[in-house]
Amino acid sequence: MLDIRNLEDFHYSQNSLNTFKQCPLKFKLKYMDNINFKKDEEGYYENIETGLNFHLLCNRYFLGIDTSIGEHTKDKEKLEIWVKSLKSNIPINKDYTYLSEYTIRMAKDHMRLQANYDLIILKEDTIEIWDFKTESRKPIYRDLEKRIQTVVYMYVLMENLNLVGKHIQISNLKMIYYNPQYEDHLIEINYDEFKHEENYKNIKYIIDRINEYDFQGEFNKSLYGKYCNYCEFERICEDKSEF
Ligand code: SF4
Repeated sequence: MLDIRNLEDFHYSQNSLNTFKQCPLKFKLKYMDNINFKKDEEGYYENIETGLNFHLLCNRYFLGIDTSIGEHTKDKEKLEIWVKSLKSNIPINKDYTYLSEYTIRMAKDHMRLQANYDLIILKEDTIEIWDFKTESRKPIYRDLEKRIQTVVYMYVLMENLNLVGKHIQISNLKMIYYNPQYEDHLIEINYDEFKHEENYKNIKYIIDRINEYDFQGEFNKSLYGKYCNYCEFERICEDKSEF
């Protein structure tokens, strides 16, 4: 086991924080034992491939690269519809700056964080964080507002405005979740000082728990059962009662 808590260059992402929240054993298997397991679910990786291809096309669009799709690309027609939707929902404005596939890393006290943004748009007085989703499920505001991704992405960007060279009022930062299958249903999340403070406390609380956690001790699987059906490690930790 590699105790990543002691590594200076390990930064917590929304994925790793969320994984710990869901199940400390899953966190240990993924990030400390470095075990990569594939989910045993029909169609799961095909859907992921289409989602990854859409993200690739989005990146090309914002970089000004050709977005035509290869003849033999899986779900070609679907991707063409999604790209058309993307272009009509986010038309390029030459007065704005588009930071596509942009990563920010930061350290504050003992909190080392990393956020990987699909897109940040720098407008005159506002900054928009866009995240692209491709799940077939319709996005729901209250789920996304509380999501650890929203918490980490908004917190990290607000703390690092100097890196994007823009200083704005906190109320002029927003995060928008966009799914081309629900293009009339953009989820827009606003920000303020209170949320920023709450986000800091929320992230700190999870990292403090990770730092205090005894990953060598006994593990009570029954506390995390509700996530097991969606977990790629289900087969190997069926009867596991300790680390
Ligand atoms: S199967 Fe359940 S207990 Fe095992 S790692 Fe996954 S979430 Fe945790």
